[in-house]
Amino acid sequence: MKSDEYYMSIALALAEEAAADGETPVGAVVVRRDGFIAGRGRNRREKGRNALYHAEILAVDEACRTLGGWRLNGCTLYVTLEPCMMCSGAILSSRLDRVVFGAYDKTGETTLSELAGNRVSVTGGVSEAECSELMKKFFDRLRSERKMSKLNFTEAVTDAQIEAAAALADEIWHEFFPSVLSAEQIDYMVEKFQSARAMKEQMASEGYKYFLLFGGGERVGYTAIKHDSDGRLFLSKLYVKKEHRGKGYATEVFEFLKRYCRENGLSAVWLTVNKHNKIAISVYEKRGFRKIGEGVTDIGNGFVMDDYYFQLDVD
Ligand SMILES: [Zn+2]
Repeated sequence: MKSDEYYMSIALALAEEAAADGETPVGAVVVRRDGFIAGRGRNRREKGRNALYHAEILAVDEACRTLGGWRLNGCTLYVTLEPCMMCSGAILSSRLDRVVFGAYDKTGETTLSELAGNRVSVTGGVSEAECSELMKKFFDRLRSERKMSKLNFTEAVTDAQIEAAAALADEIWHEFFPSVLSAEQIDYMVEKFQSARAMKEQMASEGYKYFLLFGGGERVGYTAIKHDSDGRLFLSKLYVKKEHRGKGYATEVFEFLKRYCRENGLSAVWLTVNKHNKIAISVYEKRGFRKIGEGVTDIGNGFVMDDYYFQLDVD
């Protein structure tokens, strides 16, 4: 047998493999007295869709098959994290001589040592720093991903929801567009295109769908889309309130739209953007949209929309 740290390094490599696969990083090996590695396992609970697929269970399972019996006397289990109750039960049932783990479990669950008495020898804290660091990195990443993915989409269908969308439009347009459009044109456009009445009209006769965006339980913005007859999705509106910009919400909306396209058999998202709206243009370009054209549209009352057309293909 080599050192405990040596076998723990093999368990750690398995744990890293689990992390790379989106699983909680726990790895385990069963080593026979002569140093032969009889079983390897790493957490597969998510991909395997099975509550039993802990690293220890899979390592014990493989060791039993390799050694041709359920008794693992003379073997040591190395695992990067202190075993849970289920795995402790499996460890005792399989008659392992010894268990060596890395990081201590901090959930306050009954530990193997408490459960085992003197039926199995337990050594904790071997390569503890590496084992803990791997867990910490994994959960930090998970937390930051969760923070990214906190936007909820609610389709505006009731009068109250449509009025909420119109109120957002009124607020955001008057805050955002003064650098791009005249005050008169903003008033005109909000009334003509973004009043509750106008939104209802667009939904009823043109097939528009409006969605309220909720982040952290608050209404943070809204978006409007329409299926075009040529198989593309027209992104008509996407507005986020000033205090909620820069939080990655636009990225989430684009992911939502891509999913929406795939689910509805649409090939691309396209939109029009005012040629002077540099902020929006740079957001779209960063998200992979490309310019496909430009045009001037007369919207009445002597106002025009001078736009670029951008498109994002969906594979
Ligand atoms: Zn377990």
